[in-house]
Amino acid sequence: MLLIISGPSGVGKTTITRAVEAAMRDSVFSVSCTTRPKTAADREGVDYHFIDDAAFDQMVKTGEFLEHAGVFGRRYGTPRAWVTEQLSLGKLVILEIDVQGAIAVKKQIPEAVGIFVLPPDEQTLLGRLRARAREDETVIQRRFAKAREEISTAQSCGVYDVFLVNRVLDDSVAMAVGLVDLIRTRRSSRARAGV
Ligand code: 5GP
Repeated sequence: MLLIISGPSGVGKTTITRAVEAAMRDSVFSVSCTTRPKTAADREGVDYHFIDDAAFDQMVKTGEFLEHAGVFGRRYGTPRAWVTEQLSLGKLVILEIDVQGAIAVKKQIPEAVGIFVLPPDEQTLLGRLRARAREDETVIQRRFAKAREEISTAQSCGVYDVFLVNRVLDDSVAMAVGLVDLIRTRRSSRARAGV
């Protein structure tokens, strides 16, 4: 099963994604390629594959991405071969990608399940963006504006099965895990029944 997790920056989606990965048997996290600079918190090959523009262009040209998109002026892409291989092994493949990417994936793999993580309210989101202290105020305001736009696209694009309001992290993780379990069980009993 392919699981897409999206949400605006600062909403806690990476924490939720990694907790779902840890909680679900057979789950694997798809490590994207990006041209954005590596920060001190990033681990090469674990969080991202950090590549330059030329290498990214080459991968686009050779069709190596399942989807790719520009986010905040940087490029991000999901390696196609790895995802296909993991799905064929029966794994739960988790993509943490933005809305544009999710729309592109859903077109190719309609059975993908989408979860969109929402903040409890806009002020909380702004507060969380500031608390990360990763960027200056101009960048924070840009991310905030982008977040509002992304939420509205997510709500209208028809790609997401569930909108998860992240109030208490443990509850959000439990809900996401419960949802994935439910869909997996339902799908495998349907497959057994030949429906
Ligand atoms: P960050 O640089 O903060 O880790 O991620 C910025 C945004 O890019 C996030 O919304 C994240 O979900 C998205 N993103 C990360 N990897 C990919 C990818 O492979 N494809 C797309 N479309 N978006 C991605």
